[in-house]
Formats: sequence, structure tokens, C-alpha cells
Amino acid sequence: MTPEIVAKMFPNPLPSIEEIEAKYPPRTLPEGAKVMRVAPSPTGFLHVGTIYQGIIAERVAHQSGGVFFVRVEDTDQKRKKEGALELILESFPRYGLHPDEGVNMAGEDVGAYGPYTQSLRKDIYQAYAKKLLEEGKAYPCFCTAEDVDLTRKIQEKMNIRPGYHGQYAKCRNLTDSQILEHLEAGHNWVLRFKSTGNYDEKMAVKDLAKGMIMMPQNDMDIVILKNDGLPTYHFAHVVDDHLMGTTHVSRGDEWISSTPLHIQLFAAMGWKTPKYAHLATLQKLDNGNKRKLSKRHDAEASITYFWEKGYPEMTVVEYLTNILNANFEDWRKANPTEPAEKFQMNFNKISNTGGALFDFVKMHSISKDVIARMTAEEVYEAVLKWATEYNKPLAEKLSAHKDYVTAILNIERGIGAKSRKDLVKWEDVENELTFFFDDTFVAHPELLEKFDEADVKKVASEFAAIYDENDDKDTWFGKIKQVAGNNGFATDMKAYKANPADYKGSVADVAKILRVLVTGREQTPDLYAIMKILGKDKTLQRLG
Ligand code: GLU
Repeated sequence: MTPEIVAKMFPNPLPSIEEIEAKYPPRTLPEGAKVMRVAPSPTGFLHVGTIYQGIIAERVAHQSGGVFFVRVEDTDQKRKKEGALELILESFPRYGLHPDEGVNMAGEDVGAYGPYTQSLRKDIYQAYAKKLLEEGKAYPCFCTAEDVDLTRKIQEKMNIRPGYHGQYAKCRNLTDSQILEHLEAGHNWVLRFKSTGNYDEKMAVKDLAKGMIMMPQNDMDIVILKNDGLPTYHFAHVVDDHLMGTTHVSRGDEWISSTPLHIQLFAAMGWKTPKYAHLATLQKLDNGNKRKLSKRHDAEASITYFWEKGYPEMTVVEYLTNILNANFEDWRKANPTEPAEKFQMNFNKISNTGGALFDFVKMHSISKDVIARMTAEEVYEAVLKWATEYNKPLAEKLSAHKDYVTAILNIERGIGAKSRKDLVKWEDVENELTFFFDDTFVAHPELLEKFDEADVKKVASEFAAIYDENDDKDTWFGKIKQVAGNNGFATDMKAYKANPADYKGSVADVAKILRVLVTGREQTPDLYAIMKILGKDKTLQRLG
């Protein structure tokens, strides 16, 4: 391209390539250290998939003694939303993502390879775009959106692969004087990459998660600089990941088909291509069919869904880790008390069959274990924090009754087969507290309909008469047996099963009567502990 054209297209002074390269020297890191990043777009919506991608990038980078950074990809100015960056920055540490470099909460850059916000790197992209133009590897395109649309329609009609390639790359062969004419007339332009690829030839792309993939070479003259002077994702990815020293790119597999183009761009720039790991997009089962977890249709696609419901952050981390590396589950069984970050994340273990299915049943089972591993105090603090934002009345109750609630949360807590597994998320706690407070306790006498009313009354009053809150559990249970025996209920389950007709029921039925009267429920955690926490007065009052 003639210097005159270059000067007309890039009239403003730009940093020289030498200046830029000097500002981004190669990183000095130990052998094998990986530099990885997560690169969200601030659209006001944080997809749970971003956290999923962040987890693998963060773990692999840090476990290799490398660097994990965050880059804000805001080149699509139309999709940019107020508060979106704050949402991203607030979320990352909640899920254990602590970038070494990037933008911090105060909006400042941390690290020597910034700016980490793409819209602040316009000069850098332009300097490299100008270089490609000078080298004849890029050219201006003056096609309007209507022109491009018309070409696509013609291609569709003729059954030709759509896109700006071959003879359909209309501006590829404009002469210098035609280009000057357009520029002088003030026509809008975009800069296109002049592809040298041949679609009929295949290239091998090595993917760390998927293995070797054969794909056609890229022959599209894709846009690298848009009319607003900002780069497209393709160009920004190549420039930034080169300058920032990224060694491994893990990203959603919607980008896999663009990888031949990216490899081509790295080569055109004379740069080393990073290694790629494309991650299966999170999917869900919809009427038996798998489909992408969608921002429009699925509330759980947004990270804020998990905040509103009160899923512990660790549940989300462990669940996403398990989707990434299915051997996490066995590791967790063998290491029940280790922090999840200790698990060695591995590209080779990424499942590449069947996609990454987002499955609430599995997630809930993980969550029960996560919560079961917490202390009552930790649960209390987490629920209070959640309720302060999402359930004010509950937060007030928790604050006013800290010790009482902590004691409730402590029932059957501790590692072991018998540990309590009824909580999946903080939203569930309110329901677990209802019968412990008179204002929310609801009696359910209908649950005892199968018993004779007089028997219920007698069982309750006899037990009330001998109940002592200082009894140990065996003594307490002995008293239930005693009441059972006095009232025609079997004290021995074997005897009962052998001759059920001889009894009104068994000791289990007596316990059930007491449980329903005291809690209004048929199923609860340990009734002995519940009575103790409720206290003698309340227990006796409920027994009538
Ligand atoms: N901003 C891109 C996206 O949200 C990032 C892709 C990448 O990690 O390179 O899809």
C-alpha cells in the first residue's frame, strides 16, 4: 500500500512497533510456568461459563507457578453496560479467582502488561493494523452492510459458502487510485486481513482438550479493524495474547472454528501461537435434548442466579471443577477436608465427549456435602450475609438469635456418614428454622390421623411428665420406649414385625407422635437435639 494511502487511513500519530514491543518484554518465568487469562466482555450479564473458564485458567496458571490475569474485552461498545465491570470484578474473588494482573475494583490497572481493558489499547491495535497494511497483508474495504448482505444472499442462492472470500472479496483487488478515490470521498472503511489460506486444504490444529483436529484453512478476509477504529475479537486476541505473553488460551468451543484464522494471524504477525484448549460450552437437558445454556432462556446461565438462591460459592466452584475434570469427585472423596484449590487441574482430563452438562441434581448433591463440611458458625455467617441482601426479615431473625440459630445449625453437624445433609442452599435455611420459632411454627395434627386421638394425648402427656432436658440421649430414648410399652406400642421392632396385630404400633410410632407434635413435621433432624434446643418449656407446651 502506498505511503499516501497509509497516511490517509491512519492520520494520527501512533506508537512505533519497537516502542510497543519494548513495553511488553517476554516474561521471565520458571520453566513450565503457564500464563493464562480469562477475558470477559462487560455486557451486564456474567455467564456462569465465564467462571467455569476462569477456574481452569486460574488453577492451571497458578499450579504451574505462572500468571493468571483478567482482560476486559469491551471492543463491542454497543453491548457495553454500566456496572458490568463491577459485577465481573466482584464475582471473581467470590469464586476463588484471584488474578495476578488486570483491573482492580477501583478501576486501576495492576500489572506490567496493561492496559488490561481493550478499549484503552486502541493505539496498539492500530499500530499493528497499520503495519499489516504497509506489508500488504491487509487492505481497506468500503463495502457497506447492504453490499455484504447482498453478496451473502447471492452466495446462498448459488449454494456457495457465504463470506468475504475469493472472488466475493470485492475490495481485495481495488487499485491504489480506487482506494484513494474512496478515501477522498470520505467513504467509511474497515480493515480486512488478506488471507492466504486455501479452504480446500486441511490443517491440523492441536487442541489440549480435544486432541488433534483437522480443519480447512481459513480463506476469509475477515475484518480486523472496525469502522470505529477498534479491533474485532480475532485481531485483539492475537495482539493482546502476544503482548501479554499468554502461553495457553482456554476458551469456549464456539471459537474452535476460528482457530485456523487465529493461527494464520499469528503467523502473519511473525509471532508464536499460544496453545489452545477449547472447553465444551455448558449445556442443559431440555425435554431430553441437550442444548446450550442460554442467557435468554435459562435463569441459571447468570451467575447472579446462584447469589439470589444462596448457593455457597464453594458449591459452584466444586461443581464446575467436577465438570472440567471428572476425577475431582474421587479426589474429593479421598481428601474430604482439603481446599478445592489443592486439586490438580489438568487439560488432559477435560472430558471431550458428550459436552458439559449442567445438572442440578449433581450440583445439589455436591452442595449438601459442601455445607456438611462447614461448621455451624460458618453456616450462620454465610446465611446471614446472604439474607442481609436477599431476605431481610430472616436476616433480622438471625441477628437477634445468633446463639439459638447456631445451635440449630449445629444439629448433626460434622464429618461422617450421619452428618446432616438437608441444606443445599442458604434459601433453604428459613424452612429449617420455622418450627424453632413460635411465630412460624405450624401444628399439623392431620399427620397423626392414623392414631387414636386418645392415644396421642396419653403418649404426649406421659412423655411430658417424665421429660428431663438433662437426660442423655439413651435415657431420653429409654423414656420413649417406656411410654410406648405403657400404651400398647411395641418397644422392640422385631417383636412388632413378627406380630404387628398385637400392638397399636411400635416405638417408632411413638417417636413420630412426639416429633409431629413438637415440630409439625414427620421428618426432621435428631429429635433429641431439637427438644434440647427448643428448651423444656416450649417442648412441653407443644406436647400439650
Ligand atoms: N471475550 C471473549 C468471549 O467472551 C473471550 C474469548 C477468549 O477467552 O479468548 O467469548
